[in-house]
Amino acid sequence: MHAVTLIPGDGTGPEVTAAARLVIEAAGVPITWEEVQAGEAVMAKYGTPLPDYVLESLRRTRVGFKGPLTTPVGTGFRSVNVALRRELDLYANVRPARTYAGIKSRYEQVDLVVVRENTEDLYAGIEHMVGPDAAESIKIITRRASERIVRYACEYAVSHQRHKVTAVHKANIMKCTDGLFLEVARQVAGTYPQIEFEDRIVDNMCMQLVQKPERYDVLVMPNLYGDIVSDLCAGLVGGLGVVPGANIGAGAAVFEPVHGSSPKYAGQDKVNPTAMILSGVMMLEYLGEWEAARRIEEATAAVIREGKTVTYDLGGSAGTMAMAAAIAARV
Ligand code: NAD
Repeated sequence: MHAVTLIPGDGTGPEVTAAARLVIEAAGVPITWEEVQAGEAVMAKYGTPLPDYVLESLRRTRVGFKGPLTTPVGTGFRSVNVALRRELDLYANVRPARTYAGIKSRYEQVDLVVVRENTEDLYAGIEHMVGPDAAESIKIITRRASERIVRYACEYAVSHQRHKVTAVHKANIMKCTDGLFLEVARQVAGTYPQIEFEDRIVDNMCMQLVQKPERYDVLVMPNLYGDIVSDLCAGLVGGLGVVPGANIGAGAAVFEPVHGSSPKYAGQDKVNPTAMILSGVMMLEYLGEWEAARRIEEATAAVIREGKTVTYDLGGSAGTMAMAAAIAARV
């Protein structure tokens, strides 16, 4: 029996997590779900979007399955997602983006994995006003965090039979911060002779990904570029509705889709549950439930390929739960 902390999340989060849970349960994996609320819904009651019981549960179960949480723009509380990743030291954010047959996209052969550093960079949110008319944000890059994320990317490449790792940076301009990241990336990748290693400047990387994504394999980068490039990669394979993610640390992991809480669709049974379901596949692999993971991924691919019971973003008219039920039935 596995214990998993379930955080339904904000906006469309409760809908996609319920849909994914239906599919995981159809695969018969023995899971005890410890459901805990975080985000906007608990803000008024607890004065924080991340009450202690959430972290306590995650520290106990060491595995989280999480819907997206809303972060107010400009003012208000800081990101719960960032706080969670930092509190549990979930240093590697892994976001695979691959094309599934049946999804309309200009690209046919995309199979990328973005490995995003999850704990530092501009995402540390260390910023302040300098008088009323200027603001400053501090970008932190450390040798330790760079080393472990590049090592994670190389180990991932080896264990997933992938052949190339590309480090993404802006070291031509940020010679100290991104310069350090690149120097460390070269050193670490040098200890993996079986993996081809190269680097790209982030702006060029974005253009190359749009023009010839099939040339790339595993991409490793600091936090902010990872945030942006993983949404770009989602766009290559059919949008945010289909791209899963995992936040991995030494002693814990939290699985969540790349997409946010899509508040405009909340409560409409409209958004695509695939990203959350495939995040569940990543979680089952982490738990060693390989057979169930494979069956769920195949069932999801089959339902997408048939195109009969898919959500609006894939050209269909099915609701979130109907699509999940079709996948569960196949499982
Ligand atoms: P979003 O990902 O919620 O939505 C952007 C657009 O993508 C949507 O309007 C919709 O058109 C599409 N989309 C997203 N998910 C989809 C799905 N499952 N199926 C079909 N289409 C989908 O991004 P946003 O509007 O920029 O952010 C909304 C909130 O989510 C913000 O508060 C943001 O901070 C938060 N957010 C949270 C996470 C997280 O919890 N990890 C990640 C990103 C954004």
